[in-house]
Amino acid sequence: MASEEQVKNSTVFDTDAANCLMKELRATFVAGTTKSYEWRSKQLKSLLKMIEDNDKQICDALFSDLGKPEMEAYIHEIAMIKSSCKVALKKLKDWMRPEKVKTSLGTLPSSAEIVPEPLGVVLVISAWNYPLLLSVDPVIGAIAAGNTVVLKPSELAPAMSSLLAKLFGIYLDNSAIKVVEGAVPETSALLEQKWDKIFYTGNGRVARIVMAAAAKNLTPVVLELGGKSPVLVDSNIDLAVTSRRIVSGKWGTNNGQACVGPDYIITTKQYAPVLIDSLKHNLVKFFGEDPMNSPDISRVGHSNHFARLKKMLDDDKISGKIIHGGQTDKSSLKIAPTIILDAPEDSLIMSEEIFGPLLPIVTVEKIEDGIEFIKSRPKPLAAYLFTNSKKLKEEFVSNVSAGGVVINDVTLHLMVDTLPFGGIGESGMGAYHGKFSFDAFSHKKAVLYRSFFGDAPARYPPYTPGKLRLL
Ligand code: NAD
Repeated sequence: MASEEQVKNSTVFDTDAANCLMKELRATFVAGTTKSYEWRSKQLKSLLKMIEDNDKQICDALFSDLGKPEMEAYIHEIAMIKSSCKVALKKLKDWMRPEKVKTSLGTLPSSAEIVPEPLGVVLVISAWNYPLLLSVDPVIGAIAAGNTVVLKPSELAPAMSSLLAKLFGIYLDNSAIKVVEGAVPETSALLEQKWDKIFYTGNGRVARIVMAAAAKNLTPVVLELGGKSPVLVDSNIDLAVTSRRIVSGKWGTNNGQACVGPDYIITTKQYAPVLIDSLKHNLVKFFGEDPMNSPDISRVGHSNHFARLKKMLDDDKISGKIIHGGQTDKSSLKIAPTIILDAPEDSLIMSEEIFGPLLPIVTVEKIEDGIEFIKSRPKPLAAYLFTNSKKLKEEFVSNVSAGGVVINDVTLHLMVDTLPFGGIGESGMGAYHGKFSFDAFSHKKAVLYRSFFGDAPARYPPYTPGKLRLL
């Protein structure tokens, strides 16, 4: 095994390096460094300052990795992280406070409380599409809950990965909070370690690798995954507002590369032409006649994802069904906002998560059929409904199982820190945001306090019939 000095001087992050890292973080945790309110709040304040001091560099990294427009970078990443930090700082004392609870008759006299305690050494593995938000937001929860933490950002957002490695080194306590950069070999070396929690954001295939590695050590996991998030559109709506919200939620939010982005629309056969006209109108209004050159739309994040999306577009099963867009440019990794009408259920675009600027529209005879369509498929991360019908809203909320549901808008639920954000079934397990982030990285310890008074002899053997009658 390599010495700690050798590992520090080596650039390869392998099993030996992971062992050393774990040893150091475990020692910090065991020493109790991260447990105090003072340490947690100091780190959260530094994290906030890190974001505020470096917003320009963050925007540059997001542009380099994703061509993300500056406004989008501020709204969807920088502002969200600042808000998460501020909420945690404001609420931290409350979150850390033990919760007094009632006891039961059989334990009297007694008192009881639930004491949140940090889990230990935790691992956060994040994805490329919101490379700041998805990396730093779980780390905020891990710090708030008093853990030591390793962040492994995505190698597919290399500018943000190296920026975070640099900034964490400058702003945060490096005996407790680390960044490991790298791809599959480095993540695999990390996954061999015994973590106290693994928080993974990404696709379901890798989630299975992460969960299998975690199972070896009985390590709990949070899996933040994706899926095909449907948008059911009724005909009794405010069309202009609905259409604007869908267009901005699909193409103005990382160009469809968002886990909660609308994946496909369902509407009635009769209403589809009206809706499609309005979507087209807003696409031109927002991104111009030549969206391939719009400064207000991100490009596809990576060549692998470009190839995946191109394959969906080239699928024979949707030939003749592209009713808007369809242009692609491999050299700039750009794909125009594209609408596809009535793609068959077994086409690639209707079988896999799209995660890009393609939007299929499925038509049904009556709007209620849309609910059945959604229910017949894997549970999505989000499900959206636009309607003015109270009955349909109630039916949707009670019958559609999804990570989250939004009525008359898309994606906005993730901005509400009092709502848990996470998936169900194929779209993941566990949740975070606000207090749910603190809970995701805490153990709720049950504590019962008894005194030496009030000892009931009936509880002790020998169990005579007289004692039994007392029950
Ligand atoms: P990605 O390629 O960045 O991978 C995610 C992480 O997994 C990276 O850190 C990567 O290094 C690691 N990884 C990749 N292969 C691995 C392997 N074989 N072993 C161990 N680690 C490995 O991201 P992605 O998976 O392309 O992300 C897109 C998916 O993530 C979509 O399905 C999307 O819906 C989902 N997503 C979910 C959320 C959410 O919050 N629920 C957010 C963003 C993205």
